[in-house]
Amino acid sequence: MLPEHTDVLVVGAGPTGLAVAVTLAGHGVATTVVDRLPEPPVTSRAAVVHAGTLEVLDRIGIAEPLAERGLRSGRFTVRDRDRVLATVPFDRLPSRYPYALLISQAETEAVLAARLTALGGRVLRPYELTDLDLDGAGATARFAGGDTVRARWVVGADGMHSRVRELAGIGFGGPADPGESFLLADVRVDSVLPRDQVNLFLSRGGPLVWAPLPDGTVRLVATVDDAPREPHPRHFQALLDERGPARRPDRVTGMAWASRFRIHHRIADSYRAGPVLLAGDAAHVHSPAGGQGMNLGLRDAVALGDALAAGPEALDRYAADRRPLAEEVLGFAAGLTRLAAAPPPLRPLRNLLLRTASALPPVRQALAVRLAGFEPTPPSPPPSSIVRLRPPSGPLSAVLPGPEVHDRRGGSGSGPPEGLATGG
Ligand SMILES: Cc1cc2nc3c(=O)[nH]c(=O)nc-3n(C[C@H](O)[C@H](O)[C@H](O)COP(=O)(O)OP(=O)(O)OC[C@H]3O[C@@H](n4cnc5c(N)ncnc54)[C@H](O)[C@@H]3O)c2cc1C
Repeated sequence: MLPEHTDVLVVGAGPTGLAVAVTLAGHGVATTVVDRLPEPPVTSRAAVVHAGTLEVLDRIGIAEPLAERGLRSGRFTVRDRDRVLATVPFDRLPSRYPYALLISQAETEAVLAARLTALGGRVLRPYELTDLDLDGAGATARFAGGDTVRARWVVGADGMHSRVRELAGIGFGGPADPGESFLLADVRVDSVLPRDQVNLFLSRGGPLVWAPLPDGTVRLVATVDDAPREPHPRHFQALLDERGPARRPDRVTGMAWASRFRIHHRIADSYRAGPVLLAGDAAHVHSPAGGQGMNLGLRDAVALGDALAAGPEALDRYAADRRPLAEEVLGFAAGLTRLAAAPPPLRPLRNLLLRTASALPPVRQALAVRLAGFEPTPPSPPPSSIVRLRPPSGPLSAVLPGPEVHDRRGGSGSGPPEGLATGG
């Protein structure tokens, strides 16, 4: 059942909302997480967690359990059919996680949800946010069915079509056309390609990503002009024939799951409107080139959880710091897409440039760091903003006991910082 009051209401229990909730639970903040779906989705969707994201997730106890379940890919290879144009090594990253971790999004969400449960939290389902009244002291959220919750802060982690963003009046501009069209599937293939690396095939028809998954399937993602409503293995065979290895072509032997989607590159005009904060797809969407979308959302989430625990100034910093990072990632994804779709006359030049540049170790390393999603470290919040601890407040404290919180002076306690008290 929904509480009447909460310190933080997180709308959406995708990877972003779950990671915000886990981070807040680690700080002992009373949090309510809701999702409109009765059950978490079981589909694969995002398939890679990068090293920079694993470093951030390590702080909330998620990196090790993820690393145990995923497949570790030591390199990323760019190809034009059989020819290797560039190899980007992850195994020399300055990280405890020197690889790209291939793992289905459903599994990533399951690991986050298990951690939330271990910290005493849970997702309340199915609750669909329909309305928000904002005021100087917080917000009143309304749900389909008539329930209301009073919250000091509301996190919009409700995805690309965010209702929270819309109700907070935050723009999400972009072109009116339907956006880039993608076809994707997890297929079983007979292939000579090594299963320890992700491959990006650049071809006249557009890019094709080939990524091995821990369950033995291969994730294929391709841009296509007209994606079929019901993708069939023959569509993926055709894509492999047109864009994949030519000398020893891959053969599709089965298909676990397939989908199509369209996407634009968009960023929210602001990440904060009064008590409302945005993170993840609610704040930015872009093409899956480079597998950056969910990763950026997960890093937003931990930054936002820390900022909510630290207080209002940190929230302004969150909003100011995270948006430029999203602009950079969107620019990078757009660049990868342009590179892949270079017109035929420019392709030999593109291939030559890629081969020459990637022969230089510093360029290879810079690309690996960029793909891995390492971000500049923001300055630490002043210690005074995160050490004021008091017992849990709000109705959720009865069912969501704050885990032990160690303050930076060496003491410990339980419950949220004073900045989050709602009086409930
Ligand atoms: C088919 C497909 C393939 C993809 N492939 C890739 C990929 O290869 N690489 C990559 O990086 N990304 C990929 N993505 C994108 C990736 O899935 C997203 O970046 C990621 O899910 C964003 O996480 P999120 O938590 O911000 O939002 P979401 O995962 O969208 O979660 C939002 C949650 O909010 C809930 N919600 C929405 N509205 C409400 C409401 N009004 N009230 C209550 N709850 C609400 C939803 O039920 C949902 O659970 C793919 C997406 C799709 C659909």
